[in-house]
Amino acid sequence: MEFSADVIQEVGHQVSPHIFRAYDIRGVVDEGLTEETVMLIGKAIGTVALSKNQHHIMIGRDGRLSGERLSGALAKGLLSTGIHVIDVGMVPTPLVYFSGPTSVMLTGSHNPANYNGLKITLAGETLSGDGILDLYLRIRRGQFATGEGRYETQDIMPDYTQKILADIHLAKPLKIVVDCGNGIAGNIAPQLFAQLNCTVIPLFCEVDGRFPNHHPDPSQPKNLNDLIKAVIENNADIGLAFDGDGDRLGVVTNEGEIIWPDRVLMLYAQAILAKQPGAEIVYDVKCSKHLTDVILEAGGVPTMNQTGHSFMKAKMKASGALLGGEMSGHFFFQDRWYGFDDALYAACRLLEILSRHPEPASVCFAMLPNSINTPEINIAIPDEKKFIFIEQLKKQLDMPDAKLITIDGLRVEFVAGWGLVRASNTTPNLVLRFEAETQAELLRIQVLFKQAMQKIEPNLVFPF
Ligand SMILES: [Zn+2]
Repeated sequence: MEFSADVIQEVGHQVSPHIFRAYDIRGVVDEGLTEETVMLIGKAIGTVALSKNQHHIMIGRDGRLSGERLSGALAKGLLSTGIHVIDVGMVPTPLVYFSGPTSVMLTGSHNPANYNGLKITLAGETLSGDGILDLYLRIRRGQFATGEGRYETQDIMPDYTQKILADIHLAKPLKIVVDCGNGIAGNIAPQLFAQLNCTVIPLFCEVDGRFPNHHPDPSQPKNLNDLIKAVIENNADIGLAFDGDGDRLGVVTNEGEIIWPDRVLMLYAQAILAKQPGAEIVYDVKCSKHLTDVILEAGGVPTMNQTGHSFMKAKMKASGALLGGEMSGHFFFQDRWYGFDDALYAACRLLEILSRHPEPASVCFAMLPNSINTPEINIAIPDEKKFIFIEQLKKQLDMPDAKLITIDGLRVEFVAGWGLVRASNTTPNLVLRFEAETQAELLRIQVLFKQAMQKIEPNLVFPF
């Protein structure tokens, strides 16, 4: 392996630094993210992977129209470093994670159709922050290994499906509606669930990178309207929705109620803790306080963590937690599975739990505690100000009757409710969320936050 570290190559100067982000690389195709750029990123990734003694890299892509040519450019860059490329083709992100410890998934996730991006895992670790910045600097310097890699293709779906079928057993057949929003999960989800003995009503399971029906993002209630309708019309037991690359799950009960991920996590936590008392369970700062209580009551160890799938995966590894989850819909099973976020496997575990309950899903979830809460509220703030703002707020906030949690932004817990404000890692926003036992308490906490925040930045615009 040779480096040309001392040669500053002009070519790297064409690459926009803005596509290199906190958890991944993402940009508009043919603007920030050209074939040339993706080829150079491939060179940088191959070089770093080889330096970590990884001699094979798995690559996959979602169903976007730009996927095939960007995948070709990526492979070209990787192969030029000497690393061997195994292309698993069009599959959901979790199948790429499943295929090997070093991988690149080419996906725009739930972003508009003209976007694409790269999720990178090296020797089992998600590349983020400094690791992603290092790729950019390497491209600027033209600091690449050279060699001649081999290219081959592999069909990973049979192995993945077999592994799930060997692990998941439903106590009774279920009737389910599956909405893939024309994302890449449509390539595998309907067949997988049918093999688990479910009657599957597919909704938008034809992969179409233009997303002609609704956007493949189950965290937005409007994207679940078709699913709710189909579940009720078909008298189904449950509705499942997947995001564009199949690593986030949305859930709708037989009665058409959306169950947000922190309450789905409660059900998973109870099921796991019944078999594995004392297990640790990790969740992000946006989740309900009731989740903490449910885990404690079931004899588990609750651990609150920073938001972001790479932080969650790192925490799962470091702690050995059996289960993890985020309000965004990423679920991580390290109990009977590998610890990475896998919405297909999470859906199977949900079906397994529901199949063992005599009651319908609506009753199972109604037995879990609930309270009045807000969705995520985004408040615009320039990127260069957002983290400084949070630091100022931490210093100035004076709430002696509350418990302050500062692992990611500021979560302030009162007796009957809590509020959160954190800086988004990926957008120029502050992200807020509130939960309380009564509407009056919810409003009181919201007003407290608003006043404290406006003291620092009078120009912030609040929707409440
Ligand atoms: Zn995703």
